Amino acid sequence: MFQIECPYCGKRELTEYSYGGEANLSRPAPVDAEENQALTDYLFSRSNKRGIHFERWFHVFGCRKWFNVARNTITNEFVDTFLVVEKSPVDDQAKP
Ligand SMILES: [Zn+2]
Repeated sequence: MFQIECPYCGKRELTEYSYGGEANLSRPAPVDAEENQALTDYLFSRSNKRGIHFERWFHVFGCRKWFNVARNTITNEFVDTFLVVEKSPVDDQAKP
């Protein structure tokens, strides 16, 4: 079976988790209604990039905590899992 390493609980089955979307997004400051493109992008635009992708996952049937994952979207390999407040060691490698 496919397993994911929870930074709190260790390796568990994929069925215990829920995908929470792209990680490392920052909500833009409130602006006028006419200048809300930044908020629209925050809510609806995702990078969907090829290669290392940073995602947020939730351990639903375990510790019930959020954590971040670096996943290779080509091989579906979970390269790294880490706490939301941490920086991934593969973060610098993912940048061109
Ligand atoms: Zn957990």
